[in-house]
This record gives sequence, C-alpha cells and structure tokens, in this order.
Amino acid sequence: MIYLDYAATTPLDKNVIKAMAPFFDKKYGNPSSIHALGREAKNAILHSRKIWANFFDVSRSNIIFTGSATESNNLAIRGLFRSLKLKHKFHNLESFHAITTLIEHKSVLETFHDLERNEGLKVSYIKPDQRGVVSSANINNAIKKNTVLVSIMYVNNETGAIQPIAEIAKAIKDLRFKIYDLRKRDTKYPLRLVRPAKRVETYASSETSDILNTEYPLIHSDCVQAVQFYNCDLKKLGVDFASASAHKIYGPKGVGVLAARDIQLIEPIITGGWQESGLRAGTENVAGIVGAAKALEIAEKSRKSGLLKITNLKKKLLSGIMKVHDIGTVNGSQNFCAPHILNYCFKGIDAQSLLIYLDLNQIAVSIGSACCAGTIKPSHVLSSIGLSDQDAKNSIRFSLGKYTTENDIKKTLSILKNILRKMRLKDKN
Ligand code: PLP
Repeated sequence: MIYLDYAATTPLDKNVIKAMAPFFDKKYGNPSSIHALGREAKNAILHSRKIWANFFDVSRSNIIFTGSATESNNLAIRGLFRSLKLKHKFHNLESFHAITTLIEHKSVLETFHDLERNEGLKVSYIKPDQRGVVSSANINNAIKKNTVLVSIMYVNNETGAIQPIAEIAKAIKDLRFKIYDLRKRDTKYPLRLVRPAKRVETYASSETSDILNTEYPLIHSDCVQAVQFYNCDLKKLGVDFASASAHKIYGPKGVGVLAARDIQLIEPIITGGWQESGLRAGTENVAGIVGAAKALEIAEKSRKSGLLKITNLKKKLLSGIMKVHDIGTVNGSQNFCAPHILNYCFKGIDAQSLLIYLDLNQIAVSIGSACCAGTIKPSHVLSSIGLSDQDAKNSIRFSLGKYTTENDIKKTLSILKNILRKMRLKDKN
C-alpha cells in the first residue's frame, strides 16, 4: 500500500510503540492509586506533561490530556463559555460574540453551531481568500464590544494553508485600547472591565501580559496539523489555548492535548474525578499519554530534515501530476502551505471514482468531502475558497509523511497516468 493520507492519521512510530508497551502489561497502575504501581503511572504522565509543556511553553499544570483533539477543541471553546456563564451567573450566551473561520475543522465549527443554536451565542465566520488564508484585518473588523473568543486554526487540514496566527494575535492585542474604550461606553457590556496597563508590542516581551490577557477576546488555535512541522509556543504565537492530537504525529489515536495560558480560564465539560486538575475526569490513558510524548520528542528531533524531505517529495508529486493532468489546478497556494498537503483539482475527473481506482491500485488518498446522510457534499473548506461544487468534487487531497519515499511518488504518478487515461477513454465511449 502506498499511503498518501497522513493528514487523516499517521502510523505509529516503532519507538512510540516501544515506549508504550510496558504500560499495557507490567506498568498497569492507575495514576490515582497511592501505591508504587500507581505512582509509577503518575510519574510517567508527569514526564509526558513536561514534554508537552516545553513544546507549548506553558507550565506543566497548564497541559490537559484529553481523548482527542476534537475533545481539546470542545474543552477550550465550551470550557471558556461555561466558565463565563458560571462566573457571571448568566443563563445563556446571548451577551457574547465569538469569531472563527469558515475553514475550521468540524470539531470547532460544529461546537460553535451548537452554542449558537442552543445557547444564543453570536458567531462571526470569517471567509479566507483564494489561497485559503484568513486575513488579520478581516478578523479585527469582525471584533465587537462583546467578542470574548477568537478561534482560528494554524494549518488547514484540507488545503494545508498556514494561517498568520501570530500576526492575528498581535493585531488583536494592539486593538485592546480601542476595544476597551468601546466596552466602556457600552452600558450592557457583560463582563468586568480590566484596563490594559500599557501598549505593548508583543505578548512575549510584555511584563504586564498577565494583566493584559485577562482582557478579552481570548485566542484559541487548533494546532493539530502544525505540531509536526512548526513551533507552537503559546507566547510566540500570542494565543491563550492550543489543541493537538497524538495520532497526527505518529503517536496513538485517542490522545489529545489542550495547552492553556491559564487553566483557570476554563471549566470542565466532563465531570467526575479530579484527574487533569479536575478539567478532564476519567482514568488517564497512561500508555497513550506516554506514546503522545514520545511521538512529540521524535517529531521535534526530526523537524528540519522531515520538513525538507517532504517539501521535495511534494514538489515532485505536483510537477508529475501537472504533466499527467495539465488542465488541473492546486487548491489554495503552495506559498502559504504546510509541506505535507497537496490538494489538487483534477478538472473534469470525478474525484470519488479516481479515489476508488487509486485504492484498487493500493494507493490511499482522500477527497475533501464529507459523507452526509448518503450524499456527498462538497468540502466546506474548498467552497469557502471559491471553488464551484463541480471543482470541489474533482479534488483530491494527497498528504505525505515521514515514511513516504521517492519510489512511492514515482509509482503513484505512473499509476495515476494509467487511471486517468482509462477514465478519459471511458468518458469518451
Ligand atoms: N483539527 C484538525 C485540524 C484535524 O485535522 C483533526 C483531525 O482530522 C482534528 C482537529 C480532530 O482530531 P482528533 O482526530 O484527535 O479528534
């Protein structure tokens, strides 16, 4: 099998399996138990927490292990609104406004839709440009007096488009004085106002960042597709929350991470025991958490070389595709794109059939469409960057990873050439 679907999931790295193995049999203690086996499991989690805390540059107590990035995104968004509701004794979220984008993963979009439908939250969905990139000016223009959260992903999972998170965060922080004045004039502003102490250039260099960042809007970034390739330091990005998933970086499925500038900003969405500082009840997935940290360590060590290798392989794949189907186009821009994703519109070719033919030839790719109730809907991401339904249905996502070889690319191109020829012939007859 030639696997070109690394954005969907990645195989476990052998060293990750090795690190996890003892926690399935010998080291099976419950981290909440006081005895030696329990302490051993607890220490293993502590070590993993340290590794993720270093990566996001937050203190260990601000790392929460969850069951998926879907859950991490839910915890950041719902957890913040739950905290605001409880602290201010509101019955619903009608007083608040949030901003997100049209290209977010469903775990973010559907969470906002739900809060809109059931709690009265007002949400602005920002459209990206044709490259798939959201501008900081458009985000700033959407900020209202009662905006409390901006959620924007770092790397899009369908097009690979990189979002200018640091620029967006800085622009929001520069706006603080204006926001403060707007709020001061608004007698209905629902929260206690904290005046920004002084104008600061960056979050990282600010001695007064604690005071400044008690001010809203807070910023959340879904960093799932970025962790493998980019620095996701919360302070450098200027964000308050970031989500990650182990199975996108050669770690196990079922382990998510939420990094917070300060966990006091959120309330739990799962209640029960006091695991994860009371923010995520339930006995920890010890083996999974150990595996997630090992995967991150490996990713950090091989970041530069991996990025270079995958960038080169993607270039070869794209130039080969353009030779076998020269009327197609790249969806999004290659200049603002993560190295592992290539989304290509094979104009005139039904992507679903192409995917099936590739699959029959042992090549795994994906289409940027979701299957809803038996009908294939065009991808919301491709639609938002201006593709027609037809072009979206002609689009395939190739995503490369650390086990992709030059031979894989050569073989894929040769098989693709044959399939496309057959499909065109079939169409003619
Ligand atoms: N966010 C992005 C950008 C993703 O690509 C994915 C997975 O496809 C998720 C969130 C959800 O991750 P998980 O599978 O851990 O729930």
